[in-house]
Amino acid sequence: MHKKIFQSSFLTAFLVLITTIALIMGVLFHFFEEQIQKELENEAVYLSQTVEKTGVRFFDGFEKQTNRVTLIDADGKVLFDSDAEAEKLDNHADREEINAAMKNGTGKSIRYSQTLTEKTVNYAVRLSDGSVLRVSTTQYTVITVLLGMLQPLLIVLAAAVILTFVLSLRVSKAIIEPINELDLESPENNVAYEELTPLLKKLAEQNRTIEEQLADAHKKQVEFHLITENMSEGFLVIDKDTSLLTYNSAALELFGITPPVSGNVLAFCRAKDFRDTVSKALAGEKAENTMVRQERCYSMIANPVFEEKEVIGAVIIILDITEREKREALRREFTANVSHELKTPLTSISGFAELMKEGDVSQDTVVDFSASIYEEAQRLITLVTDIIKISELDGKSIPFQSETVDLYELSEEIISRLKGQAEKRNIALNLIGGKTEITGVYKILEEMFYNLLDNAIKYNKENGTVDFIINTTESGVTVLVRDTGIGIPAVHQSRVFERFYRVDKSHSKQVGGTGLGLAIVKHGAIYHHAKIRLESTEGKGTTVAVQFGKDSFAGGEQ
Ligand code: ADP
Repeated sequence: MHKKIFQSSFLTAFLVLITTIALIMGVLFHFFEEQIQKELENEAVYLSQTVEKTGVRFFDGFEKQTNRVTLIDADGKVLFDSDAEAEKLDNHADREEINAAMKNGTGKSIRYSQTLTEKTVNYAVRLSDGSVLRVSTTQYTVITVLLGMLQPLLIVLAAAVILTFVLSLRVSKAIIEPINELDLESPENNVAYEELTPLLKKLAEQNRTIEEQLADAHKKQVEFHLITENMSEGFLVIDKDTSLLTYNSAALELFGITPPVSGNVLAFCRAKDFRDTVSKALAGEKAENTMVRQERCYSMIANPVFEEKEVIGAVIIILDITEREKREALRREFTANVSHELKTPLTSISGFAELMKEGDVSQDTVVDFSASIYEEAQRLITLVTDIIKISELDGKSIPFQSETVDLYELSEEIISRLKGQAEKRNIALNLIGGKTEITGVYKILEEMFYNLLDNAIKYNKENGTVDFIINTTESGVTVLVRDTGIGIPAVHQSRVFERFYRVDKSHSKQVGGTGLGLAIVKHGAIYHHAKIRLESTEGKGTTVAVQFGKDSFAGGEQ
C-alpha cells in the first residue's frame, strides 16, 4: 500500500509538474510571438505612413534596424529590400502576405526554414499607390527554443523529480503511518481517519462475530472431547484415505497404543476383520463385525460419512466385548448343564412310570418304584428351586429388600432346620458368637448360610463337628462355617464355586446336592459386597469364611 500510494502521488505530482511547465512555456511562447507580431505590425504601419509622406526617397540611405524591410510595386516587382539587392530578387506578387495585402490592404504569413529551426514572420501593408511595404522578422521555432533550453530544462526537471520523489515519500508515509498504527484488536478505539470509521466498525463487528464463533467452536470441541473421552467405547474418525482424523483415548487403550497418534488407521490395527469393516464403510455401507485381537474380543460398527452423496470418511465405534462373550459362553454352558441335570431325573421318572404303566410289576416293586419316582421328583424340585434362586441373583431382575439382619438369630434358625439331618450322622453343630446385625437381604443371607451349613453336614464324616462362628472385628463381620469333613482337594478348590461343579458327582448326587449351592453362596456374597475365603484340607475338613466389610451393603453392583 505504501508503495502504491508513493507511486501514485509521485506520478501525479510529476505529471502535474511536466504539464505545468509545458503549459507555462506554451503560454509564454505564444505571448512573445504575439508581441513580436504586434511590434512587426506597428513597425510596418509606421514605415508605411512614413513612406506615404516622403515617397520612395525614404529608402535612400535607409539603415536596417532589426527587421528586414521590403518595398514591392503593384506588379510585384521588388523596389527596395534592406537585406538584398532589389534587382536580383524575383517577382513577389505571388507571395502570400503580398498577395493578401494587395487584395485586402494588409497581409501576413509565416514561413518556416527547411530545417524547421527558424521561421520568418511577414507583415505587409498596401500603400496608396498600390505598392506594398513588407516588414519581416526571423524567429526561432519552439523546437529551437526548446533545444536551446534543454540543459537548464533538464536540470529543472531533475530537481523537480527529486523534490517530487522526496515529497511523495513523505506524503505516502504520513498517510500510511496512522493506518499501520491501527489497533485492529479494538478497531473502534482508533481515531486515524474519519473515512475509515465505517471500515473499522465493520472490522469490530467481524471481530465480535469471529470471537463468538471461536467461543462456540471451542465449546463444541470441549463438549465433543468430554463426550468421546467419557465413552468406554473406542471412537475413531477417518477420512476416505483411512487417515486418522480424530480418536478418543478408549480407542487407543483398546488397541494398546500410546498417544499421540497420526497417520493411517490401518497401520495400528492390521486385523483383516478391521480392514474389511473399514473398507465396507468407505464403500458407503454400514459395517458391523467382530475381531479377536490379543486374546480379547471386539465388536466394531463403522458408518460411512457422506458429503453431497460422496463418501468422505467413516466413523468407527469399537467395543470390548470380551466379558460379554465370556458371560454368553457361561450362560450357554449353564443352559446346557441345566438341560442335562433336568434330563437325568426325568429319564428315571419316565422309566419307572413306563414299567408301572405295563402293569406287570409286583406290588412291592410298585412301592419301590414309587419311592424312586418320589426321590427323583424331589431332586427335580430342589434343582429347579436352586436354578430359580441363582437366576434371581444372576439376573437381578427381582428387587430385593434390604433390612437389618441379626446373623446370630438367622444362624439359630438355619441350625434348627438342619439339626435333624446332623443328628442322623451324629454331627455336632456349634454356634459361636452373639447378636450381630448387618444390613442385608434376609432371604439371600439365609440361602447362603443354609447352603454352607448343609455342605458342612453333607460332606462331613460320621460323628463330625460343624462350627458356625460369627466374628465381629474392626474391619467388619466374618461368618465362618468350619467342618471336620472330607475336605476339598486343592485342584478343585478354585472351581467349586462354579455352577454345577462337583468334586465327586455321584457323592454329591447321593447326598442330594445339585451343584449349585456354592454358586448361590458366591452370588449372594457378591450381592452383599462380601468376600469369600475357602480353606480346605483333604480328609481333614473345610472352612468357608464370608467376610462382610464395614461398608458392605446389599443391592449394589460389584
Ligand atoms: P452340591 O450341591 O453338589 O453340594 P455345591 O455347589 O454346594 O454343590 O458344592 C460343590 C462341590 O464342592 C460339592 O459337590 C462338593 O464336592 C464340594 N464341597 C462343597 N462344600 C464342601 C465341604 N464343606 N466339604 C467338602 N466338599 C465340599
